[in-house]
Amino acid sequence: MASASVPPARQFPCFRGSAIIGLVPYIRPIIHEGNPTLRKVAKKVNLEELKDPLFQQLIDDMFETMYEAPGIGLAAPQINVPKRIFVVDLQNDKEQGPYVVINPKFTVTEGEIESIEGCLSVPGMIGDLPRFERVVCVGVDRHGERIELEGTELFGRCLQHEMDHLNGVLYIDKAKNVRPAQTEEEKEALAEIEVEGAALERNAASA
Ligand SMILES: [Zn+2]
Repeated sequence: MASASVPPARQFPCFRGSAIIGLVPYIRPIIHEGNPTLRKVAKKVNLEELKDPLFQQLIDDMFETMYEAPGIGLAAPQINVPKRIFVVDLQNDKEQGPYVVINPKFTVTEGEIESIEGCLSVPGMIGDLPRFERVVCVGVDRHGERIELEGTELFGRCLQHEMDHLNGVLYIDKAKNVRPAQTEEEKEALAEIEVEGAALERNAASA
């Protein structure tokens, strides 16, 4: 049953509104600040769920939605699914993704760094906030295998931003001066961080 190479959802696509589900990953709507799901503490995933083709589909859809946005991270609550799952992919050559992390926890948090962040759920805005300089995040991947990610710089801040989403926290709760991106520098920053969880160090122009 669960060993079938083609999950049932893919054999028998069904229709929900105009969206075809099951055939290919599809882009789900990203919800915005004001939607109560963004303020809930997301529920831990029961690892039995990983066997469900629809759960695997959810992960594929999260990646698809993140890439289309475009972003470098997306947490399940942002597509109105209050579960402890996020995806990250810095889309560089430094092995900083693609990863999906289920039931993540930080085992190390150290240092402090100021960053500028934006969020797909708070469009057009940016803000400055402190983050840990380095984190180690553990959880499981889509097969239930343990995964451990070490993050500093942008990757580290992305992990923290996504983790916050799982706890009902938005960066605007922590930022000092949330504002529309207006200056050239800020628009540039937003272009790069239109980007979930993205952050630029003020002087990291080379990134
Ligand atoms: Zn966000």
